[in-house]
Amino acid sequence: MARIEFTNVNKIYANGFHAVKDLNLEIRDKEFVVLLGPSGCGKSTTLNMIAGLEEVSDGVLMFDDQVVNHMPPHRRDVAMVFQSYALYPHKSVYDNIAFGLQMRKVSRDEIDKRVRDAANRLEIAHLLESRPSNLSGGQRQRVALGRAIVRNPAVFLMDEPLSNLDAALRISMRAEIKELHRAMQTTFVFVTHDQAEALTLADRIVVMRDGVVQQIGTPDEIYEKPVNTFVASFLGSPPINYLDGEIAPGAGNTTVFRRGDLTLRLPDHITAKLSGQTGRTVRLGIRAEDVDEKRRADEGEVLRGTVNSVLPVGSDQFLGMQFGKDELFFRVGKDLAHKTGDAVELAVDVNRLHVFDMDSTKSLIW
Ligand code: ATP
Repeated sequence: MARIEFTNVNKIYANGFHAVKDLNLEIRDKEFVVLLGPSGCGKSTTLNMIAGLEEVSDGVLMFDDQVVNHMPPHRRDVAMVFQSYALYPHKSVYDNIAFGLQMRKVSRDEIDKRVRDAANRLEIAHLLESRPSNLSGGQRQRVALGRAIVRNPAVFLMDEPLSNLDAALRISMRAEIKELHRAMQTTFVFVTHDQAEALTLADRIVVMRDGVVQQIGTPDEIYEKPVNTFVASFLGSPPINYLDGEIAPGAGNTTVFRRGDLTLRLPDHITAKLSGQTGRTVRLGIRAEDVDEKRRADEGEVLRGTVNSVLPVGSDQFLGMQFGKDELFFRVGKDLAHKTGDAVELAVDVNRLHVFDMDSTKSLIW
């Protein structure tokens, strides 16, 4: 078993670059945690500190009740799968998978059993005598996974393991990695910049930016209740739309969002958070899928604009709408027959709106 806990952890590289800033994170035993963020945000550095490949500059890193700041990698009971797979080209698949166990002087019979079990599980038993150069990308990825599985580690670390695979294979490997986690009953920490990968795999997602954790939560929490515009924009396809405008009083005790001719009714849960803030300028967030082109909306829920672009994406289509000086993108049904230049009316699901502070970019409602 392994629980991993970062307390006020910082990583400052030798050149002075501060890559991870004051990280506080508890990864529970058997949890699947995904570190998500753009290139350079400190995901791999965080993973490498867990692996022991990078030293913690400041703060405390614990596995269960043990401080591991200075524990060498080979004593940490972790196995890592890299983006590059890092297979030995001159060794067979069998020997690639067996190598870590051979180095640890595990008996030959035990190695054979573990290698064949892992190969069966990953459906590469027929490739055990092959060399990596004769394998497809997906098969190499399985060998890299096999090498980690046979170690039966307390912690399984993966650094963008699927990014070299084609789109279809990525999706099927996601399902297999999820099943692997279920079967192995061990702690998984997975690094990716791919929001879909994070949403499908994680028990909890840690969103990072410039070395700083932005939000930690279940995929639902991260998607439905983003704490700032960075998190809101990082997840969602097409990305969330923003409109800057003002909070104004509506009928009765209600509030509305107003910008020029547009008035959107704000639901009770948002009004409650914005009480006494009439006149405040805010940034409204509308997710691409939170509109309906068919529903006849009440005034106060209608967004009117001009069609800029229509991009079919198979199951539905992306609609580019010119709204004043802004271009907004929505996901609408494939049967909507609109062409560039048409006037278009969309019903906004106001219950799903987001409201952010203009300066801090923090959510005002979650
Ligand atoms: P990517 O997805 O591109 O791998 P990442 O989020 O995993 O990005 P890291 O590899 O953790 O990012 O790097 C975080 C920052 O630290 C980057 O700006 C990187 O240039 C810097 N960095 C990484 N390794 C070193 C090093 N050895 N010395 C100095 N700076 C480093």
